[in-house]
Amino acid sequence: MTNASPRSTWHKGPAEWTIGQRAFLSVAFTWDLDRAYQRAAWYYSLGYEVFAGGPTVALRPDYLAPVATTHQSPTSALPHHNPQATFTSRGCIRRCKFCAVPKIEGALVELQDWEPKPIVCDNNLLATSRKHFDRVVDRLKPIKGVDFNQGLDARLLTDHRAWRLAELDIHKVRLAWDHTRDEQPILDAIMRLRRAGITKRAIGVYVLVGFDDTPADALCRCETLKRKWGIDPRPMRYQPLDTMKKNSYVRSYCLPRGGLRTSRTAYLLGLDSNLVHRM
Ligand code: SF4
Repeated sequence: MTNASPRSTWHKGPAEWTIGQRAFLSVAFTWDLDRAYQRAAWYYSLGYEVFAGGPTVALRPDYLAPVATTHQSPTSALPHHNPQATFTSRGCIRRCKFCAVPKIEGALVELQDWEPKPIVCDNNLLATSRKHFDRVVDRLKPIKGVDFNQGLDARLLTDHRAWRLAELDIHKVRLAWDHTRDEQPILDAIMRLRRAGITKRAIGVYVLVGFDDTPADALCRCETLKRKWGIDPRPMRYQPLDTMKKNSYVRSYCLPRGGLRTSRTAYLLGLDSNLVHRM
C-alpha cells in the first residue's frame, strides 16, 4: 500500500492548451463556464481557432457557442486535467438523478485502448465485465499508488473483485454512500475489502450531502463510518447539474423539533441552518 497521493496534480479550473493556431478548452464543472468564456474570447481575439469540450460543454453547448466551436475537442483532454489519470470505461449502467454521467455519456462502454495510470476515473468500473475488470487489474499491477478516484459501486463488489483489487499497490479504494438506505451494501463492501487485506486507511467513502437527505441523515452516515467502522468519511456536497456557483445550492429541510443538534449538523455540513424548518 502507498500513502503518497497522486491527486494533487488535478488542474484547477478549465484545462487549456494550444496546438499551432488552435486553442482548446476543456471544462469539467459548470461553475467554470464564465472563466472558460473569458479564456475562449481572449484566444479568439488573438486569432486562434477555439474549440471547447468537456462534460460541462456537453451539458451546456450554448454557453460558449459565441466564442468557440463547442463539440468534443479532437484531442484527448484528460492529460490536461491530470496527467496521472486514466479511463478504462465510459458511461454507466445506472441513472442516479444527481449525476451528469447518464446525460453526457450514456450507456456503459468498455474501452479497449487506454493507458495504465494511477488515478482510475471510471464512472462505474465494477459494472464492467469480469474479463474487462480482470484485464484492468492485470495492467495496473506495475503501477504504484492506484487510486480509484470516482467511487466504486458497493452493490457490485464481489469477493472475487475485492481480492483482485487487493493485488494492486493501492493508495485508495473509494466507495460512495449516497443514501442512508444503502447501509448494508456499503457495510458488505467494506467487509469484503477488509477480508481481502485492504487496510481501513486505504478505504475512503464519499458521502453525498444535501441531495434528498436531511442533515441528520448525512451526519448519521458520517458518524457510522467513523465510529462504527473506523473509515474516514468524505462528505461531498450536492451541486445541481446547472449551477454556476459552487456550493451555492442549499436544500430546504423539514425536521422534527430538536434544536441544537439539527442546527449544529447543518453548520458542520456547510448548510444554512436558517433554512432548516422545524415542524
Ligand atoms: S452509479 Fe455513479 S456514475 Fe453511475 S449514474 Fe450513479 S452516480 Fe453516476
